[in-house]
Amino acid sequence: MGRILAIANQKGGVGKTTTSVNLSACLAYLGKKVLLIDIDPQGNATSGVGINKGETSSCIYDVIIDDEDVKNVIQQTKVENLYVIPATISLAGAEIELVSTISREVRLKHALEEVKDDYDFIIIDCPPSLGLLTINALTASDAVIIPVQCEYYALEGLSQLLSTVRLVQKHLNPTLSIDGVLLTMLDARTNLGIQVIEEVKKYFQDKVYKTIIPRNVRLSEAPSFGEPIIIYDPKSRGAEVYLELAREVVKNG
Ligand code: ADP
Ligand code: MG
Repeated sequence: MGRILAIANQKGGVGKTTTSVNLSACLAYLGKKVLLIDIDPQGNATSGVGINKGETSSCIYDVIIDDEDVKNVIQQTKVENLYVIPATISLAGAEIELVSTISREVRLKHALEEVKDDYDFIIIDCPPSLGLLTINALTASDAVIIPVQCEYYALEGLSQLLSTVRLVQKHLNPTLSIDGVLLTMLDARTNLGIQVIEEVKKYFQDKVYKTIIPRNVRLSEAPSFGEPIIIYDPKSRGAEVYLELAREVVKNG
């Protein structure tokens, strides 16, 4: 049965999209069939796997707002086993349009029921907010992955995210769990990184992934080539660590 994972944190720039793209591609590399869903109107995950947003006519917007059949919007990527539902700029209006829509929190969940068992993993890249798109992702998911940047104020905002997770558990999706907290962009040359790791581990304990993602230039270059790191530079440290994370996620499942 397919496992649905939302990559969420309302803070921007913490590594949600980088993790969504590269975890998805690494799971695919391990032989899993993966569907990556981009629900951020910026569409960075979409372009990160090589899909040209300008040439894409239908996207996740049509599924969530217009009841389009989910199978009609799935696209193949150049990575074997990796499929994507793109986001285009039309999704920018969805947050507002959803407010007055029937069963607004469960639309993605219902849409995915049809394809859930066709994939080993479905990974959802969330926007940097706790609005209805993120609520839809949390409601549709089995578990959430929370990327936390190894920086000052790393824990800031996390209590708000956790209380949103609890509200979703209470009212919409009782079986939602936290798969793990992922420490990202660690700069090993500074003490600050080590302090943040300790602080986050004290707070989340065994919920923190053993894999820690370091800062790696190749990871930040790959998106402009529309390639996940495992394709762009399979020998890089970035590829190594995301493969390690993929193995950990498979084990958790
Ligand atoms: P979010 O989706 O949470 O907004 P992104 O994944 O887009 O965050 O990351 C923000 C920026 O940081 C991007 O430019 C991305 O390329 C870069 N980045 C993310 N993770 C790493 C990393 N481990 N090493 C270097 N750069 C990274
Ligand atoms: Mg993003």
